[in-house]
Amino acid sequence: LETVPAAERSAVVDLAAIRHNVRHLSEIAKPARLMAVVKADAYGHGALEVARAAIDAGASWLGTAHISEALALRTAGITAPVLAWLHTADSDFSAAIAANIDIGVSGWELEAVVAAARELEVPARVHLKIDTGLGRNGCPEELWESFVGAALAYQEDGLLRVVGIFSHLAVADEPRRQETDQQLQRFREAVAVAEDAGVDHEVRHIANTPAVLSRPDSHFDLVRVGLGMFGLSPFPGQSAQELGLVPAMTLKTTIANCKEVPAGQGVSYGLHYRTAEPTTLALVPVGYADGIPRVATGGPVMVDGEVFPVVGRIAMDQMVIDLGRTGVAGTADTFLGKEAVLFGPSGYPSVDEWAQASGSINYEIITRISGRVTRSYI
Ligand code: PLP
Repeated sequence: LETVPAAERSAVVDLAAIRHNVRHLSEIAKPARLMAVVKADAYGHGALEVARAAIDAGASWLGTAHISEALALRTAGITAPVLAWLHTADSDFSAAIAANIDIGVSGWELEAVVAAARELEVPARVHLKIDTGLGRNGCPEELWESFVGAALAYQEDGLLRVVGIFSHLAVADEPRRQETDQQLQRFREAVAVAEDAGVDHEVRHIANTPAVLSRPDSHFDLVRVGLGMFGLSPFPGQSAQELGLVPAMTLKTTIANCKEVPAGQGVSYGLHYRTAEPTTLALVPVGYADGIPRVATGGPVMVDGEVFPVVGRIAMDQMVIDLGRTGVAGTADTFLGKEAVLFGPSGYPSVDEWAQASGSINYEIITRISGRVTRSYI
């Protein structure tokens, strides 16, 4: 961390941790290959930097939700296979085909993709998506056979190539639930229907991070990994460390103000916290505009190797910690300007603690860290 240039508030991303996590998860998933999911700016870590690190560590595919996210990777010169899977009528399928981006199709997209391919005279690379139980996009089971038939007909006309068949799991983060068994069974059946119809696909894929870690029978040919690549655990009862993962992001700033206050001092909007005795308050200049949820009062901040909970409401730009000490000459002066770490690797407070303080999940905490926080890379 000492090597990172100073910034008022920064999310320091450890690319060696990303590479470690990709190698670790690849080892678990092999012989299946690994798709690095870099949607939503790689869950807030920076899509380009993460994509390059993941490929460097052996990822064979990249995954995004939007075509625009996939195009940004191509514009930056990334040539690895990229799949984009969430589209609207306004999605630019022509640009995707021209940029050699794989397109996930669940239904209506098939016609739109084929129309674009026909105009470009370039076959589209598609992955057919089946809804095995999540109830979001994905072709409903009862329409699957005719959907596969339509795709095959277009393939024979040279308008597309079926590269993959895929689905997405609903409860893989709760390994004891039965629904994953049902989803995997439906997926195997859907693949069999497609293969019997003559689909010559390259990859079958359904596993996300929790499935990679808990369901070897879900790995098929390719696993799609987001959270684990960032070094976080998908299982509430199990730490990243226990899973062999290294958290990649450290969120830090420096104490912006520090002062001794008497007992009964109210803190932040609403005055919901009052000091019980004379104490020293320190101002941490990170707030909900930086992506920390407003409800996360109690969240941990580490200063000088000690962890202090946030007291009072989190505001747009700042939050307050109670250092719980007073009367020590110069306390306020010594804390001013000190590094304050909200979360980081083992030994620091964790993203999971912030998720707990917010009543949310670690995915949301990292993804929300806003553009106002400087990203830097080590
Ligand atoms: N596959 C799809 C379709 C997704 O939407 C996501 C993320 O939500 C993933 C894979 C990666 O999931 P995880 O971050 O749990 O690895």
